[in-house]
Amino acid sequence: MKDVSALKPPPFARIGDPVSSVSTPALVLDLDAFDANTQRMAELARRHGVALRPHAKAHKSTAIALRQLELGAVGVCCQKMSEAYPFAAKGVLSIHISNEFVGADKVAMAIELANYVRLSVCVDHVAQVEALGLAATQAGVSITVLPEVDIGQGRCGVKGNDALAALVDRIVAHKGLRFGGLQAYHGGIQHLASWEQRRQAAETAAQATAQYVQFLAARGIACDVITGGGTGTAEFDVSSGVYTEIQPGSYVFMDGDYGSKDWQGGWKPAHSLFIASTVMSTGKPGMAVCDVGLKGVAVDSGLPVLRPGDHGGQLQYKAANDEHGILQIAAGDTRDYLGERLFLIPGHCDPTANLYQQYVGYRRDVVECIWEIDARGLSQ
Ligand code: PLP
Ligand code: MN
Repeated sequence: MKDVSALKPPPFARIGDPVSSVSTPALVLDLDAFDANTQRMAELARRHGVALRPHAKAHKSTAIALRQLELGAVGVCCQKMSEAYPFAAKGVLSIHISNEFVGADKVAMAIELANYVRLSVCVDHVAQVEALGLAATQAGVSITVLPEVDIGQGRCGVKGNDALAALVDRIVAHKGLRFGGLQAYHGGIQHLASWEQRRQAAETAAQATAQYVQFLAARGIACDVITGGGTGTAEFDVSSGVYTEIQPGSYVFMDGDYGSKDWQGGWKPAHSLFIASTVMSTGKPGMAVCDVGLKGVAVDSGLPVLRPGDHGGQLQYKAANDEHGILQIAAGDTRDYLGERLFLIPGHCDPTANLYQQYVGYRRDVVECIWEIDARGLSQ
């Protein structure tokens, strides 16, 4: 009998090969666009004296986080406790968990992480504070706590001064906890279509945040950090005079949803993230089938679109099955697309990245790097 225990598929991409030879589906990254996006957000924050703490849930890759730190990021945000581990293990020493959590398993992870990194977390209930406070004090670690305030999204976060005051009172009562300021994030306004709408909504959100800051100041409590903001409002948040820190994530990639919005003043990040795909069946007239379906692209924010200009705009992604992508061919086009390569722009980058093991970075059509998506699947 042959030994099958070591049998595995060959690497689907090799450094130095043309990007056109990468085995599809693959998540490919245009490094020129990626570098430009990454640098520009870092410069925007620096110019306004605001800290940049990129959200790592967008890319889930320590290689990308380390690049962001090189360019001046103060640390990263993670959305989940387990997601923070690969970043901590690669030396990202300041991590903010921009989300609520509950349960002994999560508290234990927070305590462990706090032994290695400067950890801050969000709360919106006194019971979260008690559980974390007791554990942190017992373990002799210090965890910074930023109560989350609801500034309009209606998701997590406390509403009202009394609820905030109750949280702060409990935080400062625990030796192992430190009150660090506030998290004030409004996700819904990130994706408003018009630039002017986003500008106004960001202003309203910043005012709601400022009200909480002033309330605490009047009680003699200073906020070191006011963190929030994403790709859609970062350009407004940095000059709000309220936020000390922004936490955008998608800007490194610029997905189809963000790409479809109205941007002004040359600020729009460039599409850098694509799914390389191959047309694998063309049996029906007017239709082609590619190898990227629901297991290769998240469709919650719309179906993927082809990279502008490719194939003369003749192909349109119309439907996603598990492993099939159904493309419509423009009327009158009788060309056989079998074997053609497509570069698809995913509608939503975060859940799409979570479907892949690696980014294949390329420059001028040559594969330059392969980056692990090492926090992939870490949602606990
Ligand atoms: N901060 C929090 C709390 C978020 O939930 C998100 C994304 O949903 C972000 C920041 C980053 O947003 P974006 O990827 O739109 O820049
Ligand atoms: Mn997102």
